[in-house]
Amino acid sequence: MNYDRILIRYGEISTKGRNRNKFIDKLKKSVRIALAPFPKVKIEASRDRMYVLLNGENGLEIIGKLKNIFGIQSYSPAIKVEKDVEALKQASYELVNSQFKEGQTFKITAKRSDKTFELNTDGINQTIGAHLLKNIPGMKVDVRNPDINLRVEVRPDAIYLSSETIQGAGGLPIGSSGKAMLMLSGGIDSPVAGYLSMKRGVEIEAVHFFSPPFTSERSKEKVIDLSKKLAGIFGSLTLHIVHFTDIQQAIREQVPENYSMTSTRRMMLRITDEIRKKQEGLAIITGESLGQVASQTLESMYAINEVTNTPILRPLISMDKTDIIKIAEEIDTLDISIRPFEDCCTIFVPSSPKTKPKREKVNQYESYFDFEPLIQEAVQEVETIIIKPDSEHRSEFNELF
Ligand code: ATP
Ligand code: MG
Repeated sequence: MNYDRILIRYGEISTKGRNRNKFIDKLKKSVRIALAPFPKVKIEASRDRMYVLLNGENGLEIIGKLKNIFGIQSYSPAIKVEKDVEALKQASYELVNSQFKEGQTFKITAKRSDKTFELNTDGINQTIGAHLLKNIPGMKVDVRNPDINLRVEVRPDAIYLSSETIQGAGGLPIGSSGKAMLMLSGGIDSPVAGYLSMKRGVEIEAVHFFSPPFTSERSKEKVIDLSKKLAGIFGSLTLHIVHFTDIQQAIREQVPENYSMTSTRRMMLRITDEIRKKQEGLAIITGESLGQVASQTLESMYAINEVTNTPILRPLISMDKTDIIKIAEEIDTLDISIRPFEDCCTIFVPSSPKTKPKREKVNQYESYFDFEPLIQEAVQEVETIIIKPDSEHRSEFNELF
């Protein structure tokens, strides 16, 4: 029997109170983006569930697409039946019979939000159960561990039948928590940080710093390829590319070597914050995690963070590298991240950067030079590209240089 719709159960919406409408709107948008290749599909949202009406589109493929959408707790292929006992018997039989294999067991789970329906839940269980046992030879009941669990939901508008519940991705729909700027390097961590933020409902735009000619074509390609992967989650990703060479040169000339990395990070943060303001974001996301490298000690974060009071989200802060790598594998960014490349930060990094930089010191060093005009220039010259998951951006990007 063919399902005619997919019933979607919302995730953490019950805790969201008056943000409910926003949650539902954003989820609907995510579903629409994911199902764009299926133009006949119709999406119907109500306060406590959503239906994807298949209208003849490929149900199996659509089920696969829904798997990755944040904000979906679970979903079930379903059939809408009119509120009539005979119609319910017939549809239940067709649904279960189409799935039944020799020796399998079943149970019925009935729920009734419309109390005016002539059968209560016990009545549904008995009537439908008896009908199935009579008409499907060899099938037995097992209420504990059935092979087929037929869910019957009597709702005000109709009865919905489903027999399979698929776990969704959880989290919150992208955009329901607002927008933030992701500082995207070519490394393993920042794409994972972006992914985890998206999972909590954050819409992201990426900011990447590069320093031609010290960083190569390959490094750019990495960031584009990583952006494509992230774009796959929400249909597209806005990537801001910052020309950073002049600022790095200035730092090299003005700031003692062991503080150059601290200063570099502070300049990156200042620029990212300017872009954030323009784009009306509310936070900045980094792939920092505690203690991996000199730039990621608490002292270092304290010295760098001084340049802004915009919230900085560090989704990886408590994670071990092995856990981060696992997620990078799942979201398919690891293979891109481990390609060899020159990061604009590592090429200028001194052999022994300060692991415990001091605010007073870095402020003093930076005070001998006016970085502000260079920062404004970099912000003005930012190249912004809309990345699509499968489009060919490489040539377009190369024209920038
Ligand atoms: P990653 O694996 O994300 O590169 P990392 O472990 O190499 O992180 P760092 O190099 O210290 O750590 O960078 C810390 C964070 O600073 C990165 O996760 C990223 O958010 C940001 N960052 C570093 N370099 C760049 C860059 N070239 N462009 C944009 N953001 C950057
Ligand atoms: Mg890095």
